[in-house]
Amino acid sequence: MATVWDIDEWVDNAASLPIKSFYPTAVARATNLPLNVVFDRLLYLAEGKKINLLYEIRCPEYECTRVVKCIDKFTDIEFSQTCSIHGKFEISSDTVFPIFQFDQEFKERAKIKKKQVQGRIYLNPTLVY
Ligand SMILES: [Zn+2]
Repeated sequence: MATVWDIDEWVDNAASLPIKSFYPTAVARATNLPLNVVFDRLLYLAEGKKINLLYEIRCPEYECTRVVKCIDKFTDIEFSQTCSIHGKFEISSDTVFPIFQFDQEFKERAKIKKKQVQGRIYLNPTLVY
């Protein structure tokens, strides 16, 4: 059974890949854990500055859903938003999406770590385990 450690592992591994940010739903799908458990753990990791929580504001228009803005403080989200195609709309729970972005330093470190591990396996597999 998956545990919160699987979430940590997913984040550590994803940090070494060429992705800047991710949705909590992606982690829930990958780990098979409930979204609320995943979200809580990601908030915990965000406290440790591995990742940062941002809010994506998307146009509510069906088949548009373009990201209008990305804001780092929930309290800074303005009630009225504008899609460049569909004009003004009011924010609601259907238009604000939490997204986590990797801390730049954490990401750099994860990339270096991965290279080190790969190098070690290549040089001497018996030392790894
Ligand atoms: Zn739109």
